[in-house]
Amino acid sequence: MSAHRSPVHPATPLETVHIDGQARPATSGTGREIHDPADGTVLAIVAEGDVADADAAVAAARRAFDDGPWPHRSVAERAELLRRVAALLQRDREEIAIIESRDTGRTLEECHADVDDVTGAFRYFADLVMTESGGRVVDAGDPDVHSVVVHEAVGVCALITSWNDPLLQAGRTIAPALAAGNTFVLKPSEVTPLSTVHLIRLLAEAGLPAGIANLITGGDQVGARLSEHPDVDLVSFTGGLDGGAKVAQAAAPTAKQVLMELGGRNPNIVFADFCATDEGFDAAVDGTLRAAFLHSGQARSAGSRLMVEELVRERFVSELARRADSIRLGRGTLDGVECGPLISARQLAEVEACVTSAREEGAVVRSGGSRPAATGTVPAGGHFYRPTVLDGCHREMRVVREAVLGPILTVETFRTEEEAVTLANDTEYGLAGAVWTGDAGRARRVARRLRHGTVWINDYHRGLPQAEWGGFGRSGTGRVLGPTGLARYRVSKHIWQNLNPRPKRRLSAG
Ligand code: NAD
Repeated sequence: MSAHRSPVHPATPLETVHIDGQARPATSGTGREIHDPADGTVLAIVAEGDVADADAAVAAARRAFDDGPWPHRSVAERAELLRRVAALLQRDREEIAIIESRDTGRTLEECHADVDDVTGAFRYFADLVMTESGGRVVDAGDPDVHSVVVHEAVGVCALITSWNDPLLQAGRTIAPALAAGNTFVLKPSEVTPLSTVHLIRLLAEAGLPAGIANLITGGDQVGARLSEHPDVDLVSFTGGLDGGAKVAQAAAPTAKQVLMELGGRNPNIVFADFCATDEGFDAAVDGTLRAAFLHSGQARSAGSRLMVEELVRERFVSELARRADSIRLGRGTLDGVECGPLISARQLAEVEACVTSAREEGAVVRSGGSRPAATGTVPAGGHFYRPTVLDGCHREMRVVREAVLGPILTVETFRTEEEAVTLANDTEYGLAGAVWTGDAGRARRVARRLRHGTVWINDYHRGLPQAEWGGFGRSGTGRVLGPTGLARYRVSKHIWQNLNPRPKRRLSAG
């Protein structure tokens, strides 16, 4: 970690720590370089917050929750604030998309879509909280009793996010947390914090009072402190399984609620019947490429595990390889680029090691399998890797079992529906998956049998703010979005009111 630290750059503002309405540098005075993954140059130097900053942010969020008006504001006021944030996101749509594209390497088209998705999430939770704020009257079986279950904010939330799609993760956790009346401290990934810094500024501009939204840019020690802090009531963690397990352990002694959005090893099942027409064949090839190579395969839901019916395997894989070879690589902000760089040199090294071990285990490289040469759109010094199709894979291979984020599509084959379902469920993860078939009965059967949190039929990478997102197995606990996405930021309280209090049985009457 110390390799990323650097002294304060005099010409660069480092006020990316936001505590109690004040943007300021880190207490330590140090900063961290944020690199452009397309060429390795320094994009910005952000404040390197530490445990002292985390403690100050939690204290501010605690005060704002315990003594401030926010948790008791009417839902109409909170909803109105969320709608103002949505409008500001759309006002800054272009600027935020460029920031996100430079920081993550993703294409501008993907980043525009994320700004729109986050806008949709703010609007959705604004509407939802208006309809879901009433209590539930419970019949106590006694006319002298009024019994009601109400839902209240949990308290101070620690929101910890990862580098893949930082704006999306921040927006999908902030919107329900605020709608429910919580206060929070957000720690974005130390690799890609820039769009989150912008979003926090928009919350203030929308009129959110000081202390409710706090931000600490910094490394994993900040996340670790937030996870154990006695004044934090809930931790939402998005990241890898190792980090999630540590967060859960740190949170246990103080009985915090813990929500985890972890990785996936996502199957994409193609049945031969769907490829019987040219149109179906093209749609399945197209969908498979998008599933695997969007965000250079670094999306948590990347459909990087293809299962294709044996009957069409050769034709399908040949076309995949041909098309994968012609995907236009380059800096995400450039017109016409379809696939950007990997996030870091470390991620690139991991992907290379993974392909090497797959080769050793017998996989056949049908496309990619190496870094591209520098061209007009691919700068030297960037972390680029060619979209790679690995044929002849099987479930014992490391490349099939492990959730390595990168542009690697593994190909397995199956002969029967039963075999396809067994293969697809043979993973410790369970985030998302897809099935391509023209047989409606089979589509529904397979979709119901897959142990994955989202299943697409004849599509991939689509979502709605009204629909829950989250994983089975080691892909996490809890759900974001949808009614469950709001419920997880609330606690219920049962209020029993005796309308006719009088002595019933006198304990000390003798
Ligand atoms: P990571 O687990 O290394 O880090 C995630 C975040 O947690 C970062 O902010 C990091 O600083 C912090 N962190 C790390 N160790 C911590 C600890 N011990 N205590 C508290 N905080 C800690 O993950 P990453 O490399 O940033 O992200 C990649 C992973 O995230 C992949 O596995 C990906 O699949 C997963 N992911 C899942 C989803 C989802 O919706 N399920 C979304 C995005 C990313």
